[in-house]
Amino acid sequence: MPGKALLFNIQKFSLHDGPGIRTVVFFKGCPLRCRWCANPESRESGFGTGGRETADTRYYTVEEVMETCLQDRPFYEESGGGVTLSGGEVLMQAGFATALLDRLGEAGIHRAIETSALAPPAVWREFITHVELLIIDVKHYNRERHIEGTGVSNETCLANLQTALDNSKSVLPRIPVIPGFNDSLEDAGEFACLFTAMGISKIELLPFHQFGEKKYADLGIPYPMHGVPQLHREDLAEYQQVFIDRGISV
Ligand code: SF4
Repeated sequence: MPGKALLFNIQKFSLHDGPGIRTVVFFKGCPLRCRWCANPESRESGFGTGGRETADTRYYTVEEVMETCLQDRPFYEESGGGVTLSGGEVLMQAGFATALLDRLGEAGIHRAIETSALAPPAVWREFITHVELLIIDVKHYNRERHIEGTGVSNETCLANLQTALDNSKSVLPRIPVIPGFNDSLEDAGEFACLFTAMGISKIELLPFHQFGEKKYADLGIPYPMHGVPQLHREDLAEYQQVFIDRGISV
């Protein structure tokens, strides 16, 4: 819809999506199909989540989103926070997102995105000039395993990550650590090799959780990760150490 974006939530007072207190704008639509996805309501590009939608899913104008974001400007200023665009995949609605990011920039608000970096390289190169921080989820170092877990290859994602680094953008790579997919110490070693080769010195780990399970039930979608044990911070101590041993802070 021209001038509007399909969003499924705008969440205030987030402390986990970039520095400080943030408002997170969730864009609907994602080109990946991660088995462990905790936001199944985000994946379809139009209305169509197993025939149901969350209450906040609708088309929004830039003005509407700005109005909500500006309400919390004092909290951003006090905490060093700002606004994070997330999803789904924000780059699937890149035109609207760029317009919103420009308005936020004009208002002096710090801008971050959470993304898998899957976008045409030309679109990516232009888009990243509109943000201060790129939080990029790297799901697997291996092409075939990436396809197996997400439905798509990792080649474009990794090339775009390298482009962001080459352009001196502030980048925070994150690994969603998923049991049986990328959680072995050998996996950690391979990730560390990849990151070292790319010039990355700091990452975050996101331990697998089951917070999304109820959403699948509510939306009437089968849940592929039913019964898989959650990971906790302490479960990842050795995994984390592999990176630290190679000079990557976690
Ligand atoms: S990239 Fe994120 S939103 Fe898209 S399917 Fe994977 S976990 Fe879900």
